[in-house]
Amino acid sequence: MAASVGTRLCETPACNKEAKLQCPTCIKLGVEGSFFCSQECFKGSWNEHKKIHKKAKADSQPNDVSNSYHPWPGYSFTGKLRPYPQSAMRTVGDHIARPDYADHPDGVSHSERSMRGSTNIKVLNDEEIEGMRVAGKLAREVLDAAAAAIAVGVTTDEIDRIVHEASVDRECYPSPLNYYNFPKSCCTSINEVICHGIPDMRPLENGDICNVDVTVYHRGYHGDLNETLFVGEVEESSKKLVKVTWECLQKAMQLVKPGIRYREVGDVIQKHAQAHGYSVVRSYCGHGIHQLFHTAPSVPHYAKNKAVGVAKIGHTFTIEPMISEGTWRDQTWPDNWTSVTQDGKRSAQFEETLLVTDTGVEILTRRRDRDGQPYFMDSLSP
Ligand SMILES: [Zn+2]
Ligand SMILES: [Zn+2]
Repeated sequence: MAASVGTRLCETPACNKEAKLQCPTCIKLGVEGSFFCSQECFKGSWNEHKKIHKKAKADSQPNDVSNSYHPWPGYSFTGKLRPYPQSAMRTVGDHIARPDYADHPDGVSHSERSMRGSTNIKVLNDEEIEGMRVAGKLAREVLDAAAAAIAVGVTTDEIDRIVHEASVDRECYPSPLNYYNFPKSCCTSINEVICHGIPDMRPLENGDICNVDVTVYHRGYHGDLNETLFVGEVEESSKKLVKVTWECLQKAMQLVKPGIRYREVGDVIQKHAQAHGYSVVRSYCGHGIHQLFHTAPSVPHYAKNKAVGVAKIGHTFTIEPMISEGTWRDQTWPDNWTSVTQDGKRSAQFEETLLVTDTGVEILTRRRDRDGQPYFMDSLSP
């Protein structure tokens, strides 16, 4: 039940009836007024009324002149996206268990480094598996909070604040924070950004696609997932890219069971991506994850890779395909994190943390509501 806001009159010029229905799009856009007496009047006024939406959207577009931040004068960008200033680094209280790199001046993880080069894949015991289940569930809840906040005009810094606070509220350390000096609590990767975008003061624009990658560290275990989300009205071509990328992850997960070779995962992903004319990013892979954020196995997403290892019951790892509209080749901004497509075309990604079980796979970070459908579909199906 909604609270009454006093007497208002219908927007339809010839109608003077009392109006209590507010246009949902105007509410979203922050346009004041726009009340109608009935669905009939709303529909009848639609052709005129929708012009208000168009104007409000146009007014909310930050023109690039407003961003006077030019940190790398000589750098030639591959696409239209630009960096914006960042807020100060956030902190996590000492009452929350933190990974070893959290307090290292260079963000180095000594526990991960000591395992570097090893292809030995850890088999988790029951207690460790339970720890991973909890971390995966909490990571999903944090992504839920971020996804609910995505909208035109919201900065990625604000998304990061929500992720940070939702993590701390759940007794989690946001794993990206200070990991090799990454300055924020999640990654936000927009349009041509493949992955590892740094949240900043850029307001999300109508038509953007934005991947939010969340990892939390809870009582010794990391849970890691990401989804690509729509900002306002997205073009059909981007909708298709995002959908196909999600399908690539679904097909890859269906393959997982004891005995499969980790190198097979990339064959399934590339086959589906290529069938739709897309390419598979090669520089970033899925990874083993448990007490360590990134460890063996390495799980490439492209075909005919040479990954080592066979899936066994008790393995935990991620699959996180990055699928691009044009070239698969990436390059990194001078911030040493933001990975973009070399042709400036868009790239999308989805990720889940998985456990190999006797019957196949348990998706530790699965969405628990709406039958597990990805967030981008929420806006397509009411
Ligand atoms: Zn990951
Ligand atoms: Zn991730």
